[in-house]
This record gives sequence, structure tokens and C-alpha cells, in this order.
Amino acid sequence: MDPLHSSNCNIRLFQEGETIFTEGSDSDAAYIIEAGLIEIFVGSGSDAVQLSVLGPGDIFGEMGLIDAYPRSASARAMCPCRCIVISAAQIAERIEASNPLVKLLISISLHRNRAYNTYFKTIMNSSHVVLPTLAVTEKAYVKNPQHRQILEEIKLESDLHKAVNNDELQPYYQPLFSMADNSIVGFESLLRWQCPDRGMVSPNQFISLAEETSLIVPIGDWILEQACIDLKTFQAHWQPGPGSPSHLFMSVNISVRQFQEPNFCEKLLALTQRYGVLPKHIKLEVTERIFLDQADAVEAIDDCRKAGFEVSLDDFGTGYSSLSYLERCEIDSLKIDQSFTQKICTSHRAKILVSSIIDISKKLGLITIAEGIETEEHRGILEDMGCDIGQGYLFSKPLPSSGILEFMANPPSQRP
Ligand code: C2E
Ligand code: CA
Ligand code: CA
Repeated sequence: MDPLHSSNCNIRLFQEGETIFTEGSDSDAAYIIEAGLIEIFVGSGSDAVQLSVLGPGDIFGEMGLIDAYPRSASARAMCPCRCIVISAAQIAERIEASNPLVKLLISISLHRNRAYNTYFKTIMNSSHVVLPTLAVTEKAYVKNPQHRQILEEIKLESDLHKAVNNDELQPYYQPLFSMADNSIVGFESLLRWQCPDRGMVSPNQFISLAEETSLIVPIGDWILEQACIDLKTFQAHWQPGPGSPSHLFMSVNISVRQFQEPNFCEKLLALTQRYGVLPKHIKLEVTERIFLDQADAVEAIDDCRKAGFEVSLDDFGTGYSSLSYLERCEIDSLKIDQSFTQKICTSHRAKILVSSIIDISKKLGLITIAEGIETEEHRGILEDMGCDIGQGYLFSKPLPSSGILEFMANPPSQRP
């Protein structure tokens, strides 16, 4: 078959000297050269300036498909050419699916490329020194709010890297209480970031970023270590009342990314041994996101339970809730999300759902923990429903370890 003839509509053939597109025209397609040579140039007639000559394997005309700007250069076949056509839709779908930072970097480099084309044409057509014009230096992407947000995220990411190195992270602990007698049974560790420039940054603002960049692994290791050290101290200061468990537990939030580390369970076991903490006093709080990669998650959870750690399903009732997880995977406790707790007094439907979750949990032999208990009314309803453990501002806000020691010395039931 003649390589320069085709009936395929994705292939275009160009004659020697044929213009493929011109500067300023709409960008409707890009091309991959299969055979022949293509000249890319700016200007026209005797003022035309050749920018490059492309051959088989090269792509051209892609810039306009990415940023939807008109062509900033022209393309002409230097000999008979055969090209594969790439449609705008093919590119748009892939760009849309890419990471926002990658999109920003592409638009920055496209801007530089276009600015270079414009500037090059100006200096070639001028006999004296020409300074770059505003058209060259003005960066459209700087004004785009979406791009500004991405830049802000990059800054947050580098600040977070600094935070890890400069000891700006701090563990806080929120006590958990037995619903039966209001005594402390354990704690949840919650990360805090005291940033010199931003003030106190909420974990909701930086945990997802740490997860995207894998920074969550060293941060998660550090928080686990602090949790073991502080649990040991809290246990040493604790005087159990009649009917209270002999040891307090520590719940630690674990991201999916941490669980995916091949030696997560061994590392955790080594840590508890180093600080003399029993694995059964550590509850790993995982969210249902972990089940997106089901087989691996079930195996990792099983490994941790076999090593003696407890596993709690966090934020239950939100996001990816599926009862099939409860059927397939053995866990120890179920944590009702605060969005449900806070509606039980005002929404009849929320009340029915929470009561049903507690029933299911009991029948499966799981401990039920309700978070976000803010009022005596919340507490009373949950106690009547048979919820085992409660956590929320009604009992205590998250506190630094020194605050927990003070709180333990003066627990709510003994307060005036
Ligand atoms: P979470 O695991 O659902 O933690 C409970 C959140 O509810 C905490 O927010 C806690 O301060 C807040 N809270 C507790 N009681 C009440 C209450 O009565 N009312 C209200 N409105 N809120 C209450 P925080 O500390 O801002 O943490 C937010 C989220 O960040 C956590 O949600 C958790 O998903 C994540 N997170 C925090 N620390 C860590 C960590 O060390 N590792 C990981 N992977 N995630 C963490
Ligand atoms: Ca949690
Ligand atoms: Ca929650």
C-alpha cells in the first residue's frame, strides 16, 4: 500500500507546499507525522520566520487543543506528508481527567511557548532591540481563580513539608466515654498544625493534601509514635473507678495510603513493643474508602487484627457506605458519624437510621461509638438506643496531652 494514500478518515495526506493551518485560525485538530516533513513558521511571505521542521513521530498543532487558543504559528507540508489526526475531543477528555497541578503546569508551558512565538516574530521583523510586550509577559493563568487555588495548594504543600521538619505538628486527644457511667474509656488522637503564617490549620484542610502527596506516611508514622508514648503516660495516671476497664485505649486515624504500605502491621507492632503498649489498646480507625480496593484492604485489616490491634470503621453512614463490607470483613467497632448524631433530635429519619445502625452493630457483636455528641439530649437518646461509647464537645473538646492529664485529674462526674 502507498503510505501517502489512505481511505482512513483519521489519516490526512498533504501535498508539497500545502498549508495545514495558519496563524490565528481556530485550533480544531492536532497531528502526528507518519511520513514527510512539516515546517512550522510565523509571519507570511518574505517576512515568514521558520520556527522548526518536524518529521515522522513528531506531534504538531496540539497547543490549541489543550488551551483552546487560536493557532500561534502556521504549518505547511515541505513534501508529500501523511499524518494521523487527533481530535479536540480525544485531548479534552484526557486533559479533563488529569491532576489540576499537571493541567496548570501544561498551561504555563503553553503560555511560554506562545509568548516565545510572538516575541520571536517581533524581533525578527525589527531592526532594533525590542523589549517583550505585555502580550508576552501577561500571564492569563495568573488571573484564573482555579489556577490561583492550585498555586495556593502547592504553597500549602511546601508549608506542610516544612511543618513536618520544624515540629509544627502536634497531637491532640479527645477523650471517649462509656455511655453507661460517663467514665473515660479511651482517646482519639487528632492531628493539629500550628503554622507560623496561617495559625491553627484544621486537619480537614491538610490531611487530604498529605494523602495525595504520600506525606501522610511519615506524618502517620509520627502520630502513631506520639499516640503510643502519650497513651502510656495516660494509662500510668489513670485510676479506674469501680466497673471501669482496667486500661484505656487509643484510637488513631489511619489513611488508606498507610494501610497500603507493605509492612504497615509489622511497623506498628514494633512501635507498640518499643513503648510497652499492648496492641489491644490501639484502635485503628479506618474509613470505608479503604474498601475501594477490597481484597487488599480485607487482608491488611485481618493482619492487624491477628496481631491483636482493634479496627474501628469510622464515619459510618457517610460516603461509600455499603453493608456488604460488614458482611465480608471482621472489625471490632463501628463509629457513627457526627452528621447523624447531630440530627437525631431534629430529624425523625436520622433517628431511625442511627437506631438501626446500633441494632445491626449489636447483632454483629460490635461496639458502637457515636461521635459529635454536643448536648445532653444527644447523649440521652443515644444511651437509650444502646450506644456503648460517646465522644463529643459535651464531654470534652480535643486537648493537648497536658490538658488530658488535667482533665483526668478532674473528670466531669467529679466536677462541681
Ligand atoms: P474524624 O476522624 O471524624 O474526627 C472527628 C472530628 O470531629 C474531629 O475533627 C473532632 O475534633 C471533631 N469533633 C469531635 N467532637 C465534636 C463535636 O461534638 N462537634 C463537632 N462539630 N465536632 C466534633 P478534627 O480534629 O478537625 O479532624 C477532622 C478530620 O481530620 C478527622 O475526622 C479525621 O478524618 C482527620 N484526621 C485528624 N487527625 C488525623 C490523623 O492523625 N490522621 C488521619 N489520617 N486523619 C486525621
Ligand atoms: Ca476518626
Ligand atoms: Ca467523622
